[in-house]
Amino acid sequence: MPDRALPDSLALIGNTPLVGLAGPSEAAGCDIYGKCEFANPGGSVKDRAALSIVRDAEARGALKPGGTVVEGTAGNTGIGMALVANALGYRTIIVMPDNQSREKMQTLRALGAELRTVPPTKFADPSHFVHTSRRLAKKTPGAIWANQFDNTANRQAHIDGTAPELWDQLDGRIDGFTCAAGTGGTLAGVGLGLKARDADCTIALTDPHGAALYNYFACGELSSEGSSVAEGIGQGRITGNLEGAPVDTQFRVSDEDGLYWVGRLLSEEGLCLGLSSGINVAGAVALGRYLIAQGRAHPRVATILCDSGMRYLSTLYDADWLRAKGLPVFDWLERA
Ligand code: PMP
Repeated sequence: MPDRALPDSLALIGNTPLVGLAGPSEAAGCDIYGKCEFANPGGSVKDRAALSIVRDAEARGALKPGGTVVEGTAGNTGIGMALVANALGYRTIIVMPDNQSREKMQTLRALGAELRTVPPTKFADPSHFVHTSRRLAKKTPGAIWANQFDNTANRQAHIDGTAPELWDQLDGRIDGFTCAAGTGGTLAGVGLGLKARDADCTIALTDPHGAALYNYFACGELSSEGSSVAEGIGQGRITGNLEGAPVDTQFRVSDEDGLYWVGRLLSEEGLCLGLSSGINVAGAVALGRYLIAQGRAHPRVATILCDSGMRYLSTLYDADWLRAKGLPVFDWLERA
């Protein structure tokens, strides 16, 4: 194998680039960096969790050749899982709430995953996509339930991969890290990995409206106000992956503030991102200002650019959809 060739498609997962974000850095008065997780082969941060969950199940002997992986997902984990499973000879069954973007559903079908959709419900409802996927795994011969919310092989991918990559890319100086939580695997895994290298690195939760973690970390109560249209983030419980997450402080970000950064990063910096990335960047700006107020000189803050905006052409980048949700429409869409 030549030195500069990778052995297979799985080796494309992780080792993503880190990019300086000029507008957010200027707004915060410090250096803000985004980890380009949209550069993973499945187009999102969730490829890392999918590969880690499959490798862990194989190592435990739970997943055998020709087996099936069943998962409940907002979409991105399913896309990563379908690619990983194809590469390793497994079948994939995905259960997804039917209010997620059309692009993600089309992609899952195109990749060969078997897709089942369920109406969006509260977690306590037995028809919730997570419970539906668990039951389906139980009755499918040779299947495992990936269980990304409570299976800590998810956050292990970030302890072993994302955190040391960030540390190396920033030459061992990182003052703060923040991101929003879906499963919480990224926040907890990167948080644990960075704290192990520097206990003074500040880890912050960025929570969208409608999620319960802001109040949990601020005052110990799982409660929420408002709502968000962001896909893949916004958690209402302490998942297995969030247990013991080293969160020092927390910020709450509105969809409008997330969209503001999605718009600026696209029009000024040529980065086309989904809304969870915009919300993360708004959180990173808040964390930068917080660290400066705490007396840190020229802090370096990193966050996650979770997936590409091209996964949301029918929602975030559609003027009618934005108007129907009462959200501001990007200037260039108004002109189109
Ligand atoms: N952003 C997007 C677009 C996602 O799909 C997800 C995963 N659900 C996240 C952020 C959050 O990642 P995690 O599950 O590691 O908290």
